[in-house]
Amino acid sequence: MKRIAVLTSGGDAPGMNAAIRAVTRTGIGLGMEVYGVHHGYAGLIQGDLKLLSARDVGDVMQRGGTFLGSARCPEFRTLEGQQKALNRLAEKGIEGLVVIGGNGSQTGAHALSTLGFPVVGIASTIDNDLFGSELTIGVDTALNIALEAIDRLKVTASSHHRAFLVEVMGRDCGYLALMAGIAGGAEVIVIPEFETGPEEIAAQLRAAYERGKAHAIGVVAEGATYNAEKLVHYFQENRERLGFDLRSTTLGHVQRGGTPGAYDRLLATRLGVAAVEHLAKGEHGVLVGLQAGRIVPTPLDIVVSSKKPLDLSLMDMAGILAK
Ligand code: ATP
Repeated sequence: MKRIAVLTSGGDAPGMNAAIRAVTRTGIGLGMEVYGVHHGYAGLIQGDLKLLSARDVGDVMQRGGTFLGSARCPEFRTLEGQQKALNRLAEKGIEGLVVIGGNGSQTGAHALSTLGFPVVGIASTIDNDLFGSELTIGVDTALNIALEAIDRLKVTASSHHRAFLVEVMGRDCGYLALMAGIAGGAEVIVIPEFETGPEEIAAQLRAAYERGKAHAIGVVAEGATYNAEKLVHYFQENRERLGFDLRSTTLGHVQRGGTPGAYDRLLATRLGVAAVEHLAKGEHGVLVGLQAGRIVPTPLDIVVSSKKPLDLSLMDMAGILAK
């Protein structure tokens, strides 16, 4: 394989730049030309590709986001859009593609692979909801940002004897909320996989005060039925049942933009190297991910048809430790 391309797609994640760098320099090291695709599948359809040199990927590893740009591209969900992308790749003589992204992006990668094009996916999403990788690029940095916010909110919550709800990202997956809640010492954790109603949440926060705590923190996943906004609304309507002052903070996109930490840079680098090595060996149609400390390929059809389990026994553990 002499010419490959790399793109970043879906939500940006801290560490994507380190993955692009590793793909580019590994490819060059193996005698390949490596093209960077701007703005994910949208740029692929438009033929927005640029040959990358080793220097082009210098000084990017410490930056969050993706210097190639990312996009959500509805057209690529259609066979027509995918054919257009394949035509652009053929025009440039590109023989292989590395797709850095989450679930949706890997579904797109699988579509191209099914059409016969060699693709290798790299597990990258701050939600950590991608099957085939125990941890995905960006999760560790996003978690640390959430923790910094929780630690700070605890300080102000203690000073005012207030309860705080902190909403973290994760559309359908409670991983970030669960881990941030455990590592941040939250009194309550609310995730989509383990629904907790507002009365139960209020009871748990109240119990924290009754145990003599100066604060009560609830970490809530954005995808929970009762997210922070709904909970605040509920308690505004039923203020007397709460019995204490409740504020909420939604971290939102702040969680994405951080400087990638050592863990994400190293994971992204290992995955980037492995992706190109697989392409070079003719092993494609796979996602490279982290399993038991090793970088392992998983067929894309399994990745996109499987749901990553969340260890719900950790909810019990969090409950015990919150005492
Ligand atoms: P994150 O988890 O960070 O949101 P993601 O990769 O899951 O990342 P999505 O917005 O779901 O983000 O998907 C990114 C892009 O992947 C979409 O805009 C679309 O171009 C492509 N994609 C998503 N689903 C499909 C599909 N079923 N078939 C083909 N392409 C798809």
